[in-house]
Amino acid sequence: MQRAIVTGGLGFIGSNLIGNLLKKNYKVLNIDKISYASNFYNTKDFKNKKNYKFLNCDLFNKKKLKNIIFNFKPNIIFNLAAETHVDRSIDDPEIFVKSNIVGTFNLLETFKKFYKNSKKNVKLIHISTDEVFGDILKSRSKETSAYSPSSPYAASKASSDHLVYSYFRTYKLPVIITNCSNNYGPKQHPEKLIPKLIYNLINNKDLPIYGRGTNSREWLFVDDHCDALILISKKGKIGNFYNIGSNKNLTNIQITKKLINFANSKFKTISKIKFVKDRPGHDYRYALNSKKIQKELRWRPRTSLDQGIKKTFEWYLNNLNYFKQFSKKDILSRQGLKT
Ligand code: NAD
Repeated sequence: MQRAIVTGGLGFIGSNLIGNLLKKNYKVLNIDKISYASNFYNTKDFKNKKNYKFLNCDLFNKKKLKNIIFNFKPNIIFNLAAETHVDRSIDDPEIFVKSNIVGTFNLLETFKKFYKNSKKNVKLIHISTDEVFGDILKSRSKETSAYSPSSPYAASKASSDHLVYSYFRTYKLPVIITNCSNNYGPKQHPEKLIPKLIYNLINNKDLPIYGRGTNSREWLFVDDHCDALILISKKGKIGNFYNIGSNKNLTNIQITKKLINFANSKFKTISKIKFVKDRPGHDYRYALNSKKIQKELRWRPRTSLDQGIKKTFEWYLNNLNYFKQFSKKDILSRQGLKT
């Protein structure tokens, strides 16, 4: 039986990944520091399964991390733990440096000891983002494109990716780095664009959009990202980077209109788009070239944008209690354009 550690598994992608791993009969240990971004609602469907366990641990805590990894003896570690909200990184970058850079460094040091000590067949998959490439006005970033992060969040992710790669080059550690585009789907914190818009549509509130809504993002349904991560963990080449994207870009105004149309097909909403002052340093467009994973690993996203929007919106409608986990202030105070 495969033994997987998922870091950051109380968050959006981590909890979806754990659900997918448990369906494939992995034994899963979720470690998370339980932050504002964590949510036990996200793990309620599998929390009592015998193959699943949760431990509260901050990657900042080296000693605890070492005990956990040496006791659990994983075959695979998926590192998703990170501070993820760009707006928060602009207000308070320090926690991003601690969690995303020092946290990843601690994980690498522990992993290095574990790998040497156990001589086990074990890999570390480090999950990163398209934001490390910065503004891509034309064409699409390849795995070989230069990093050019614009926000403290993106810079902290870029730094952690560099550290992970250096541990492959220097210590020959079995690591793989993935760069994914904007995810959407069930269980995402409502400070991020799509769940925030869904919450506002349900509650007849204005739909705040930065600038003129022309910024463009590549949207991928979260289960397609999880499929890619599991495939990469089995068949990806050690020391490689893999882009994971849908090849489908939409402006923020286009995605908002899709959500308004879906809302109107289900209930009556009086919510209206309201343009708000733009975020400083706001990247205009992210776009990935994902041909490498398509060719080498034969991965393709299975969910069209319309199917994904339907699945996502219906999940939030069927889980209205999800929003009760957050204070109204928490949901409404930030404009929220994903990570
Ligand atoms: P999220 O904010 O929903 O969840 C992150 C989780 O990590 C939270 O539960 C948080 O408590 C935990 N965490 C943060 N720092 C930690 C630490 N030091 N120790 C232990 N746990 C810690 O984030 P998400 O959207 O699920 O993103 C997961 C990962 O995927 C991140 O690394 C992010 O950079 C990357 N990513 C996200 C997207 C996206 O669109 N959401 C796209 C590409 C890549």
